[in-house]
Amino acid sequence: MTKVAFIGLGNMGSGMCATLAKAGHEVKAFDLSTEAVRKAEEFGAIGAGSIADAVEGADVVVSMLPAGKHVHQVYFGEDGVAAHAGKGTLFIDCSTIAVEETRSAAQKAKEAGFLMVDAPVSGGTAAADAGTLTFMTGGPKEAFDRAKPLLDVMGKNVFHAGDAGNGQVAKIANNMLLGISMIGTCEAFNLAERLGLDAQTFFDISSTASGQCWSMTSYCPAPGPVPAAPSNRDYKPGFAVAMMLKDLRLAMGAGDDVRADIPLGNHAQQIYSRLDQDGYADLDFSGVMKRLRGEI
Ligand code: NAD
Repeated sequence: MTKVAFIGLGNMGSGMCATLAKAGHEVKAFDLSTEAVRKAEEFGAIGAGSIADAVEGADVVVSMLPAGKHVHQVYFGEDGVAAHAGKGTLFIDCSTIAVEETRSAAQKAKEAGFLMVDAPVSGGTAAADAGTLTFMTGGPKEAFDRAKPLLDVMGKNVFHAGDAGNGQVAKIANNMLLGISMIGTCEAFNLAERLGLDAQTFFDISSTASGQCWSMTSYCPAPGPVPAAPSNRDYKPGFAVAMMLKDLRLAMGAGDDVRADIPLGNHAQQIYSRLDQDGYADLDFSGVMKRLRGEI
């Protein structure tokens, strides 16, 4: 049994926190929202009234926060985690934030005498609730080895990607590829349909030919071929345009830092940015199909 302080009980964190508590760990849960803390108590966590309260006596701190500024504030702000955690407490940040913000957080943790790993996730709220996330972890091997048993409870795949920040690198590079491949898949289905080839027939051929990819076989943006895909429920997410745009922006920012040439990633960002500006932030990211069809 590990004593865990869990900070950030939103869409993702609430399910992850519940999974840890149900597995028998002693979890003290904190969020700025008292309602979120109350819900965590229903799942067996111990509600905490402050970060100091949550981290008192904890072996490990797990956080799931919106952005880098929240992560830095929670860990290193006045009355933050680093100010109250006991010696040897391990920090595991599962938020998706910029690579540089992750690396500077790990450095600040090191200077304060703590080990910290970045462990962003792939998989949405359903995977968070079911404990089937994929974790991409960055940080020293000894910190990863300590984090892994807890990550194994919350996830089905746990990878060590290398040093601090490499978890975020894996996440944003993967999601950039996903954004690009989804747009390409939408274009292919739209072209085939306009030329008289129905979606199911094109799927049957292309999913066993060289165009095959996850965006097609697991998440087909044309309604019909993959029943569980958001395209069959009017593109209700799933994985929203706003989320894809966040990850593409992080990828483009990190790419600028190292002067990586990313023409298609940039173009994908523009396409999702336009959907976002036009009021479709909450549409599933495969909803690019609706735009190509001229429906939105
Ligand atoms: P969310 O906005 O639902 O939850 C974030 C929670 O953090 C909120 O409950 C908020 O009150 C809390 N919070 C913010 N500042 C805080 C502070 N200073 N102290 C304590 N609590 C604080 O976000 P989410 O959808 O759960 O996503 C969390 C992270 O996971 C993000 O970085 C996101 O990019 C990433 N992610 C989300 C999904 C998804 O499908 N939602 C999938 C993969 C990764």
